[in-house]
Amino acid sequence: MSKTELLTITSGNSAMPYEWSIGKYGSRFFQEIREHQRFLGIRCPKCKKVKVPPRRICGPCFQELDDLVVLSDTGTIMAFSTVNYPFIDPDTGTHRPIPYTYGYINIDGSDNIFSHIINETDVSRIRVGMKVRAVFRHPEEMEGNIKDIKYFDIIR
Ligand SMILES: [Zn+2]
Repeated sequence: MSKTELLTITSGNSAMPYEWSIGKYGSRFFQEIREHQRFLGIRCPKCKKVKVPPRRICGPCFQELDDLVVLSDTGTIMAFSTVNYPFIDPDTGTHRPIPYTYGYINIDGSDNIFSHIINETDVSRIRVGMKVRAVFRHPEEMEGNIKDIKYFDIIR
């Protein structure tokens, strides 16, 4: 009897486009970006913390939220990582050009972090605590998703 050879089957490529609702507050969040190029948060009536992007429930308090708060387009870097390892970008299905910097940003007036790209890849020029400003797509190019925020620029 011959040795077992492990075989594989290549099924080819398949495309599975799908879409889902981003809900009332997710829609308002991207609408505010498209119309005013600024962020929208929501305040919890119990702990008073402002979350961005807005959501229906405050997790720690289990309170339903409805107090929308207009925020600015600026924030503070809380943490960052410059990525030099290529991997497949789930949004495009292709390699994202490296290097790029991903950051945790506290949007001014909010109490949580918002993660997005920081437009700087020289780690000697980035520090926790630096102020940043969001750079948005041109309003006519906006699609109502996270890519409407191109990146955050460090305010020097
Ligand atoms: Zn709360």
